[in-house]
Amino acid sequence: MPTPIVDLRSDTVTRPSPAMRRAMHDAEVGDDVYREDPTVNRLQERAAEVFGREAGLYVVSGTMGNQTAIKVLTRHGQEVICEERCHIYNFEMAMMTAFSGVLPRTIRAEDGILTWDLIAPHLRTRNDHRARTGLVEVENTSNLAGGSVYPLEISNDIVDRAHAAGLPVHLDGARIFNASVALGRSVVDLTKKFDSVMFCLSKGLGAPVGSMLVGSKEFIEEARIIRKMLGGGMRQAGVLAAAGLMALEEGPKSLPIDHANAKFLAQGLTEIPGIKIDPSKVVSNILFFDVSGTGLASYEISKRLAAQGVLANGTNPQTLRMVTHLDVDRAGCERALQVLRQVVGAPS
Ligand SMILES: *Cc1c(COP(=O)(O)O)cnc(C)c1O
Repeated sequence: MPTPIVDLRSDTVTRPSPAMRRAMHDAEVGDDVYREDPTVNRLQERAAEVFGREAGLYVVSGTMGNQTAIKVLTRHGQEVICEERCHIYNFEMAMMTAFSGVLPRTIRAEDGILTWDLIAPHLRTRNDHRARTGLVEVENTSNLAGGSVYPLEISNDIVDRAHAAGLPVHLDGARIFNASVALGRSVVDLTKKFDSVMFCLSKGLGAPVGSMLVGSKEFIEEARIIRKMLGGGMRQAGVLAAAGLMALEEGPKSLPIDHANAKFLAQGLTEIPGIKIDPSKVVSNILFFDVSGTGLASYEISKRLAAQGVLANGTNPQTLRMVTHLDVDRAGCERALQVLRQVVGAPS
């Protein structure tokens, strides 16, 4: 049997389990644009319940969820305050500008963790010269900052003070269940103050497709209209929502293993000459590490790893990223370390 691929490019690569495929096969369906798909309805109710909210909405992708929320919560010509490395700014195809007509006002924060002190100088209220701030956005965990997690006091403080300033706050919680595991707090504790929350079913939770928005009834009713504008009104989507339901119920249980594997990788990486990583910064399932000391560009390392069945992408010439997830076990992590050692010419 050929050695299986160890795919550490992202937690989006997870495939539906046999049980998940059976649930998809057996799903009861209806036309969800008519709100008649019982499985989609169940997923939306269950997501709302898990997050302690009035309502939920199933969306095609995290991008659709984030951009829908931005559209609902802002007006054309406003600014959105967000961290410089955030997903809505870097990986959503300039959609906040193209669709909502808003300008991102980015702030660099250590480890991707904004604080109110960093945000406050960038707020623009009614002013004859400057665009007004319309929204603050927080990403937890922060993907490009290495899966870092907001301390609860800091995210609560941001939302409280933004609200005091009359501003809504959207949470890009693509990996909020990873944050929940890292902090040992419920997703309700982590998210209850935010005006809207997006989270992904399709990453570490293991569904093949889909994300959720949760919030007030009023917010979700507006979001439903925007989703339709974006072409996200799906019909017998219950076949997908069935996988989403299983991801929501079962997925969070395996995240502690992913985090332990990420720590294991981080520790192993410190022992490879030419590689730099601070393992104390690896608190969820994402690792970035500096490979410049190896004398090889990250892309070259990536190519050589792939030739031996280990997949990890370079994010710039000096940096490689690895993401742990339910389709990579400890043995896979061990193999990734061993192949990497060999690729960079370290003695094994
Ligand atoms: C993956 C991700 C999203 C959504 O991505 P899609 O590919 O559109 O589902 C949003 N925010 C963050 C932080 C992500 O990592």
